[in-house]
Amino acid sequence: MTRSLFVFTVLVLASQAARGEARNIILFLGDAAGIPTLHVASVYRYDHPNKLFIQQMPYIALMDTSAADEWVTDSANGMSAIVTGQKTKNGVISQSASAVRGKQDGEILQTILEYAEQRGLSTGVISNMNVTDATTAACYSHSNDRGASGKIFAQVFTPRFGDGVDVLIGAGRDAILTATAKVGVNVEAAAREKGYAFYSSLDAISDSDTRVIALLNTHDFSLSEAVDDAIRILSKNEKGYFLMTEWDAHTDNLKRGLDQAIELDDTIRKTAESVSGDTLIIFAADHSFDIRLVDGKKDEPILSKGTQRANGQSRGNVRVDDGHTGEQVLVAAQGPGAERVHGFIANTDLFHIMMAAYGWGK
Ligand SMILES: [Zn+2]
Repeated sequence: MTRSLFVFTVLVLASQAARGEARNIILFLGDAAGIPTLHVASVYRYDHPNKLFIQQMPYIALMDTSAADEWVTDSANGMSAIVTGQKTKNGVISQSASAVRGKQDGEILQTILEYAEQRGLSTGVISNMNVTDATTAACYSHSNDRGASGKIFAQVFTPRFGDGVDVLIGAGRDAILTATAKVGVNVEAAAREKGYAFYSSLDAISDSDTRVIALLNTHDFSLSEAVDDAIRILSKNEKGYFLMTEWDAHTDNLKRGLDQAIELDDTIRKTAESVSGDTLIIFAADHSFDIRLVDGKKDEPILSKGTQRANGQSRGNVRVDDGHTGEQVLVAAQGPGAERVHGFIANTDLFHIMMAAYGWGK
C-alpha cells in the first residue's frame, strides 16, 4: 500500500468509526430457526430457557417473513427479501415479484452482497446446505427458479459487480459439478480463470488464499472452522467485508436440527468474542418451523420421550410437524448499527438495516 493510500484508508476508517458505521457485517442465518426452535434448543442444551447467546444479544426485533403473495415463505423469497429489500414470490431468487417461477424473469434485484462488491468490499457465503440452495443462491445469483442449480452456480463466475463472491464454502460438490457441466461450465477451469483456489475440503484452505471456492461432499463440517477461515481471508481487505453464513436448523429431524441450532449459537458466541468492534453481527431466521414445546420438566432431558408428531403417535415433549410456519422470527444483533434492530419489522427491513449500518443509505 502506498503512503497516500494508507493515509486515505486510515481517514476513511476513522470517519466510519466516528459515524458509528460498520466496516464489516456478518449475517448468521439459521435456516428455519424460528423462536420455538431457539426455545427448545436452549432447554435441550442448558435445561433452562433463554440461555442461548442469541437470546442475550442486546438488540432484537420480531421479523415478518412472508412472501409477496403468500403468508408462509420458502427459503427463496425468505432470503431474497432479506438481501434485496423486496419481497418476491416463493421459488424465485433475488428477482422481483413479477417473475413467474420457471417461466419468466422478473426485474433483477441488487443484493447486499452485490452492493458490497460494488463498493470494493470482500464478500463471502458459507452454508452446510448445498451452496446452490435458495438461501445462499439469493446472495450471489438471480433466477426465476430456485431449482436451476447449474445456472445459479454459473453466476459465481459472471458477477454483475466487483469480482463476485470471494469466499464460497459449502456442501453439494458432486451435484453442483454435475449441474454446472450440464449448462456447459467447468467449475474447476472457471475457478482457476477467476483467481479462486478450488478445494474439496476445509483443511485445504491456506492462510495465503485470497479467493476460495470450497465445495464439500458432506453437510457435516465444522461451522466455526469455516467461519474462522472466511474471516481470516475476508478481513485482509481494509475496506471491510460482508459474510453470510447459513446453518440448517430445520427440525424435521429434531435432534439433528437442535444440534445444528446449538452449533450455530456457539459459533456466533465465539465469533462475537473475536471480531473487531467495527463488525455488525446479526442473527436472523428466514422463516419459522412448526415445532412446539408441549410438555417436559426440569432435569428431564427434553428428547427423552422421543418426538411427538402431529398425528399424535408418540407423546414426546416436543411436537413437530414437517413444515414452515408464518409467524415472526427473531432477529438479534450487536455492533455498529445494531440499534436499528427493534420492534416488529419486515424481512425487507433487514436489507435497509444492513445498508444503513454500512452508511450506504438506500
Ligand atoms: Zn429456509
